[in-house]
Amino acid sequence: MIVVMKPGSTQQQINHIVELVEQLGLRSHVIVGTERTVIAALGEKRDGAKQALETGDGVEKVVPILAPYKMASTEVRKDPTCVSALEFKVGAGHIGVIAGPCSVENEEQILHVAREVKAAGAAALRGGAFKPRTSPYSFQGMKEKGLELLALARAETGLAVVSEVMAPEHVPLLKRYVDVLQVGARNMQNYTLLEAVGESGMPVLLKRGPAATMDEFLLAAEYILKTGNTQVILCERGIRTFEDHTRFTLPLATVPYLKQTTHLPIIVDPSHGTGKANLVAPMAVAAIAAGADGLMVEVHPDPEKALSDGYQSLTPAAFAAMMVECRKVARALGRDL
Ligand code: PEP
Ligand code: MN
Repeated sequence: MIVVMKPGSTQQQINHIVELVEQLGLRSHVIVGTERTVIAALGEKRDGAKQALETGDGVEKVVPILAPYKMASTEVRKDPTCVSALEFKVGAGHIGVIAGPCSVENEEQILHVAREVKAAGAAALRGGAFKPRTSPYSFQGMKEKGLELLALARAETGLAVVSEVMAPEHVPLLKRYVDVLQVGARNMQNYTLLEAVGESGMPVLLKRGPAATMDEFLLAAEYILKTGNTQVILCERGIRTFEDHTRFTLPLATVPYLKQTTHLPIIVDPSHGTGKANLVAPMAVAAIAAGADGLMVEVHPDPEKALSDGYQSLTPAAFAAMMVECRKVARALGRDL
């Protein structure tokens, strides 16, 4: 249920409703909006709870939350959420671009890419150090050494660093080096991991599982939000279909759909979404046109020699050209990039 407070309700009245919610055996979550405060009362339905809350001082109305995901829903929070780390801002009008190699490979590679993507307008650097690979014989990432190199690139460029965490026990290690924890598509429904990244209090980038529905995606986000961590970015990265002209199928209708159903920022990854470097820029432009709050793009100084995902990586020059096109579309739509 959502307890909608009257405009101008006092802090005392809000505190009283929070206490009442908890006495009813429900969890409370206060959302201070631009116009009024609402209190989400979460948990199993209880007889009489709605009536008890309705009579509270300062309460305007009590309405049920229809969506299965409660805290992610626009029913609970209308104002869009902005997720930020250093200069990187995404959502609530900010378009944030994350770029960098699929995997961190060596110091020269990551520093080179970091400088180039920053110059082209990215605000965050990506780079996998713990890599979820289909084959156990493929390059698995540089692990902690890779994280050290990412931190070095951050120190030099000021870019926020985004890197994937694959296991709950690695969260404290990643926390020492990165600014945003990425939960990969393969782990979207790893609920222990979702709780661990939520409890870290750090911004989280949650990628859609390749076979996940929108409700499953938003319920995965709900696991993170339920810990009290509101800094969640959703990332559409393509789904598995019968189609084989691309690595995955990139459904951009996800963007306007999610803009209507959740206040969380939604970004698009056209690199994994297409799996083909020549399709990345057009789909990045299309994502911005569809209203995406940001992009995640793989960039490598020499894609042919990349240790992972070279075929879908842009060169720094191609990335800079893509940014020029994205900026034109963003500006045409009254947005800044
Ligand atoms: C990645 O971003 O490098 C990655 C492994 O992506 P996904 O989890 O979407 O496959
Ligand atoms: Mn990749």
